[in-house]
Amino acid sequence: MPIIELVTLNRGRLGVLCASASLCLACGSDAPTGPPPSTSQIEVRYTSADIPPAVESAVAIAVSRWSRALSKNLGDFPLNLPAGTCAAEVPQINETHHNLLLFVSVLPIDGLGGALAFTGVCGLSTRDTLPILSNIRLDRADLDSMNARGTLQGVIMHEMGHALGFEPGTYVLRGLSGGGASDPFFDGVTARSEFAKHGSWYTGVAVPLENSTSQGPRDPHWRLSVFGDELMVSIVSRGFKSPLSSITLGFFKDIGYDVDFSVADPYEVTPLFPNTRILPEGNLQHDVVTLAPPKFVSPIAAH
Ligand SMILES: [Zn+2]
Repeated sequence: MPIIELVTLNRGRLGVLCASASLCLACGSDAPTGPPPSTSQIEVRYTSADIPPAVESAVAIAVSRWSRALSKNLGDFPLNLPAGTCAAEVPQINETHHNLLLFVSVLPIDGLGGALAFTGVCGLSTRDTLPILSNIRLDRADLDSMNARGTLQGVIMHEMGHALGFEPGTYVLRGLSGGGASDPFFDGVTARSEFAKHGSWYTGVAVPLENSTSQGPRDPHWRLSVFGDELMVSIVSRGFKSPLSSITLGFFKDIGYDVDFSVADPYEVTPLFPNTRILPEGNLQHDVVTLAPPKFVSPIAAH
């Protein structure tokens, strides 16, 4: 079981949450004073000191959940990047880092409503095109609303899904998608198999990606009109539970992670009725953005 680390910059403190005490060498009174080398699947670093407790809590839960669902030894990556490479608020990076380094920021984006969050994947491994450096921005103006309506956890889980590789840089490069703007699909074998188990009524090409934004297979969301309430569709709405389905976990299996399917929530592919009135509390369309094409970094060869 992976060890989960949460590191906060500019606070002078280091929090280490241990999923398994028997594996957590840095826990206990004899822990070294400096940050230990990361051994986790995901290491989160906040870029400012004023992170609301609700965000810290939701991020910790999301890291724990995703780290139980996905595992892979991506390797150790030499990162030497000037400040602002990944996003304006991301500091200089000069270190060798194991697995995914994920920066999380809370800052003004576009006021109340509108966009809730953005995620960018800034670094990919040359070995398997999985993300090794990502950034999540949460809109400070929407935090209270998301928290009050119970959607904050789902939004952070959703964005972390993008940060881990539910984004076109991973699957388009490998030819795991197809279709045009009107009927894009993801055709990884595991996701298709899981979709068939839970959505056998669907007669189109599986697994359908969102087709309402004219991005074709580069829109990294499941099709809302087919999936309804699922973690990786592009809205959150009142009453949505944003379940993490075995289809989404199948996606991650197809792009190269080892997956524990027992972590999935119960889910059947259940479309929204045509006349269902959805009142989106926030839009997650177009929430995968990058300042520049991601950098490809080669892992240091193991000896
Ligand atoms: Zn999204």
